Amino acid sequence: MAINEAKDDIAEEILLESGVLKKCMYHEIIFRGNEESSAAYKLANGKFSRDNNFQELFSNRRHMTDTIQNVNDNYLSEECPICVKIRDQ
Ligand SMILES: [Zn+2]
Repeated sequence: MAINEAKDDIAEEILLESGVLKKCMYHEIIFRGNEESSAAYKLANGKFSRDNNFQELFSNRRHMTDTIQNVNDNYLSEECPICVKIRDQ
């Protein structure tokens, strides 16, 4: 369980770093960014090649990209819902 959480955390970091997901700077809420999910896979594959921690955590690239895809699918909002609410008031 803890290992799965670690995998999800890393997948989330990759998604944020690549701009596929964004985090609201005010509310720490994650929502969709401007990049296609392929940007996250590209970044992750580069890290997988260089970083032993990635190779240990994700036994193979397919498993890594599947994890990224699953995490990415959790975030459907186009914007931070709290910011939208504040703006529309
Ligand atoms: Zn916000």
